[in-house]
Amino acid sequence: AVPIYGVPGTAKERTFIAVKPDGVQRGLVSDIISRFERRGYKLVGLKLLVPSVGLAKEHYADLSSKPFFAGLVDYMTNGKAPVVGMVWEGPAVIKQGRVMLGATDPKAAGPGTIRGDYCLTIGRNICHGSDSAESAQKEIELWFGGRGEVVDWASNNEEWVVSNN
Ligand code: UDP
Ligand code: MG
Repeated sequence: AVPIYGVPGTAKERTFIAVKPDGVQRGLVSDIISRFERRGYKLVGLKLLVPSVGLAKEHYADLSSKPFFAGLVDYMTNGKAPVVGMVWEGPAVIKQGRVMLGATDPKAAGPGTIRGDYCLTIGRNICHGSDSAESAQKEIELWFGGRGEVVDWASNNEEWVVSNN
């Protein structure tokens, strides 16, 4: 069986993508889902939640010493809007997910990327994507570790989307 975090380097590679509270508040959930869906990636996990402080701190553990950490955790967890957490599957989805999001600082994000199209500042950059296979595994387990929360299903589109011939 495929582990919930997928198999990096194959068509079953998986990544954790989130719409942050500002993206939800601004009505951008459907646009962000659409971009991944239309590209051909497969949605295998989806949930709406206000993350606990513990979850947000664990998710951003590598940034815990940064001056913006407290503000970042508050923004993610204060409940003014929820987070949409997703797991997307497909070839190179970890790297390509980051490309589709655009640079962390929207001032450096190119047009055609999510952040380049919809954001202005680093503290309100509306989306998250795992930055490596290790992060994807950690984040999928953290956000979707419950039983049956990632769904392994076969898309009928697959033969029209995935081939290397
Ligand atoms: N962040 C911030 N100020 C900064 C750097 C980062 O508020 O100076 C926030 C921002 O929301 C960013 C998140 O912290 O998306 C995580 O930072 P990271 O460097 O991991 O960027 P990402 O992986 O989200 O592109
Ligand atoms: Mg990051």
